[in-house]
Amino acid sequence: MARRKGGHPAVLTNPDAERVLCLSHGVELRRDGWCALGQAYASNAVCPFTCPICRGPLDWKGGCERCHGCTTGNKADWTFPGDRYERDDDNPGHFKATLKAGRAACTPRENVGAMQIVQAVLAKKLALADALGHLRTIFSGRESP
Ligand SMILES: [Zn+2]
Ligand SMILES: [Zn+2]
Repeated sequence: MARRKGGHPAVLTNPDAERVLCLSHGVELRRDGWCALGQAYASNAVCPFTCPICRGPLDWKGGCERCHGCTTGNKADWTFPGDRYERDDDNPGHFKATLKAGRAACTPRENVGAMQIVQAVLAKKLALADALGHLRTIFSGRESP
């Protein structure tokens, strides 16, 4: 049995977890999923970051399933409280950070508006190029949860 450490770590670590190897390098990953050879988090690692609001686990998109990055409970206020990580084509088997934390998620109203635009395109009432312009306007600075 591992001893419990005091304090609140910034990352979740499970001292009893199986050692995980980097799929690209075959080396043992740090407890938080960091690969020393790749100098990045391995894409087969569990996201080690915790939500700055509720301390729940974040996913690699920077999303929190527990509080959705908001304190009001309103879906319109959802955010991504963590950085977004995506697979790095230049460093296979590893992630790279692509977006900073604190991004707003799209609201239910924005989702409905986007769906109406998609339906107009499918019904051939709106040209695709025009639709893409509208969607860019709706979702500028937004990200789908
Ligand atoms: Zn690696
Ligand atoms: Zn949270």
